[in-house]
Amino acid sequence: MRKVSFPRMGESYRTFKMLLNDLGNEVVLPPRPSRRTLNLGVQYSPEFACFPLKIVMGNYLEVVEQGANVLVTSGGVGPCRAGLYAELHRKTLHRMGYPVDIIVFEPPRLHPFNFIRNVHRLNPGRLSIKAVIACIKRAWRKLQALDNLEKLTHIIRPEERERGATTKVYKKVLEWVDGAYAMDEIIEAETAAVEEMNKIPRDTERLVLDVGIVGEIYVLLEPASNLEIEEALGNLGVRVERSMFLTGWTRDNTWKETTEGMTVKDAARHYLPELIGGHGRDSIGHTILYAKRGFDGVIQLAPFTCIPEIVARTILNKVSADHNIPVLTFFLDEQTGKAGMITRLEAFVDLMRRKKLQSAGLKPA
Ligand code: SF4
Repeated sequence: MRKVSFPRMGESYRTFKMLLNDLGNEVVLPPRPSRRTLNLGVQYSPEFACFPLKIVMGNYLEVVEQGANVLVTSGGVGPCRAGLYAELHRKTLHRMGYPVDIIVFEPPRLHPFNFIRNVHRLNPGRLSIKAVIACIKRAWRKLQALDNLEKLTHIIRPEERERGATTKVYKKVLEWVDGAYAMDEIIEAETAAVEEMNKIPRDTERLVLDVGIVGEIYVLLEPASNLEIEEALGNLGVRVERSMFLTGWTRDNTWKETTEGMTVKDAARHYLPELIGGHGRDSIGHTILYAKRGFDGVIQLAPFTCIPEIVARTILNKVSADHNIPVLTFFLDEQTGKAGMITRLEAFVDLMRRKKLQSAGLKPA
């Protein structure tokens, strides 16, 4: 019996589950990455593999234990290890006695035939092209709704009157979007969810800091991999703006690059004119754009041993000095602890708050 699964990245699994079901697949849902996921991944991955490779390895082992035998993932372009992930995972799983098939989606903009062939392989129901397009459109709309709600949590959380209220309501409304199927149901669920979230009591007088989050895609999108840093920042009175969401990344890699994507590249050009793989150049470009928009600081999230982000980190020292914006980097791996992260965040927030008050001619409390 054919059972399909995929690596978990934030809430996007809700969309992929719907799409794969629509195409006639039985889906095994990937669990939220946990300590067990990480332990499995670390145990069966090369020691110096990137952190996302290890978590995804653990996630794969959890789903193959539940019977998944087809795994769907994305490929990678540029000079870093991302393009080798799928092959390494496949070989490891085969060696462990799991003869899985891994379907790798390369960016359709660059590999249109790979996209068509893979959609065909994932369409055992043999839906017509028109029906497949309709399924993709609905899935896309659901993905947009999920991203929009997550962005809203970033705005509301630093002002919530009752600690944890945003997270509680967000968890509830996610289920509304999850249960919506037809296009109008998805739109209706999103509207109701936004209304519900806007009812959360807020203190709009509070001094809130604006911080941009840049870095490698996996650790940006999967909260379990970054120890829920955005929630922690929200609780410290910080409004975060994450530089990457799955809808934005997909848009840039599917049809054609958006003006937004090009603006980021242009901004980074002076410091880094070359593509160095991963999202290193984006981290630099976004940091400059955040500085120009008057943000109070930037946090870079980088998997331990991620070459593009290590290169970006060295350049960000200069960007930080040139554009007068504080930048804090977290290199994440299986050893990273939440308590240590919170301590560093508190110190960073304190520094930004003092700077903000001083530039407004006010005394820090
Ligand atoms: S971007 Fe970084 S973490 Fe991702 S595959 Fe490349 S080197 Fe590894």
